[in-house]
Amino acid sequence: MTTIPARNSTREWQALDRAHVHPFTDHAALHKVGPRVIARAEGTYLYDSEGEKLLDAFAGLWCVNVGYGRKSIAEAAYKQILELPYYNTFFKTTHPPAAELSRTLVDMTPEHFTHVFYGQSGSDANDTIVRMVKSYWNLKKQPKKKTIISRINAYHGSTMVAASLGGMSYMHELADLPLPGFVHIRQPYWYGEAGDLNPQDFGRLCAKALEDKILELGAENVAAFIGEPIQGAGGVIIPPQNYWPEIQKICKKYEILLIADEVICGFGRTGYWFASEYYGIEADFMTLAKGITSGYIPLSAIMVSGRVAEVLTGMGDFAHGFTYSGHPVACAVAIENIRILKDEKLVERVHSETGPYLTKKMQEFLNHPLVGEVRNLGLMGAIELVKDKKTRQTFDPVGDAGTICRDHCFKLGLVMRATRDTMLISPPLTWTKADIDEWAGLAKQALDLTAKDLG
Ligand code: PLP
Repeated sequence: MTTIPARNSTREWQALDRAHVHPFTDHAALHKVGPRVIARAEGTYLYDSEGEKLLDAFAGLWCVNVGYGRKSIAEAAYKQILELPYYNTFFKTTHPPAAELSRTLVDMTPEHFTHVFYGQSGSDANDTIVRMVKSYWNLKKQPKKKTIISRINAYHGSTMVAASLGGMSYMHELADLPLPGFVHIRQPYWYGEAGDLNPQDFGRLCAKALEDKILELGAENVAAFIGEPIQGAGGVIIPPQNYWPEIQKICKKYEILLIADEVICGFGRTGYWFASEYYGIEADFMTLAKGITSGYIPLSAIMVSGRVAEVLTGMGDFAHGFTYSGHPVACAVAIENIRILKDEKLVERVHSETGPYLTKKMQEFLNHPLVGEVRNLGLMGAIELVKDKKTRQTFDPVGDAGTICRDHCFKLGLVMRATRDTMLISPPLTWTKADIDEWAGLAKQALDLTAKDLG
């Protein structure tokens, strides 16, 4: 049973793609080579339209935490579609999947979260948080508190607000962003920006950048600070251990709401259910998406702390929501996905077995002439390619080495992502040590070929 016309060949799919669709793409490059057409997937392998098998070391886009081909998720969706394919959660209405999932999320997230709001994507969830933050301060009778502080090289999504929260200049340039009221401070990127400072001193310095910005703007004008516990798309930037505790202190001191964007980190990727647990972050909002359904169907959730929820729910009419907020099929899929994560003890496995094993295998790459640094927490890692390991000098132009390496990965049957010249890994949490060995073998070959190409 398939609903996709079988008549199309790879070339025909590529022509349709080029003519009609494609997000986040260099269109000039796309026209030269055409997209790779991924036709199906099973476990941790993708199969393209030519039947070629690829090891997916990126879990789709950081999201397929339980791996591909889970029949029980398909069955949960099928059952829910027959039972109640759609109903809204507006106007004092709900349905069992939304109510059940909310309870599950409140039970599994840090204790102070009491409320959930649903969206379809990480972007709209962050957009929603901004509305909630502004609304919170209005209700607290501090209407001047409106500026939101984020970080350079952060990624929070692609809507106008989410891209304003983000700190990627190439995204800002596309559409005259950031919008007014969004400002950015430096990122805690130790390998690339610390110079001679040790991680602790650098962590303190980067956190102090928040305090400096608050003092510059006036605390009475600052509403919130947002950060990914570990920056994902920015290059798996793992902050020094003291960074988040310092940030937390500063937010408390100046009465700034704290938003932890756990879209990538959440649902076990780091070996903790949420990276906030690892760093001891007690955020007012937590953004969840991706791993909540393992990408099988779109869903995002915002966890709201009790103290913020009390204010927001005390206001009477909360005039915000989406047609698909708490979509019953998405919620049913999330419930089954979370059951799998729990029953198969995948988070525990990442924490005590595969995460540490990945660390060990990645350390071996440090011997490679191109590799300046490796870092990971759980199954979220980065391999930084540099021109000169001693001085940490980057390639010129930045990005070519990463692209060359990523293309070699593809040719070898491996999917990894490159951010600048940093190779990123974020596989399904189902990976075993054998999968990590297979990945390491292919990644090593790709690095060798890249080194050869770079001369
Ligand atoms: N926040 C983070 C940390 C992300 O990594 C992403 C996407 O990669 C988003 C938000 C946006 O999520 P979406 O693409 O579902 O809108």
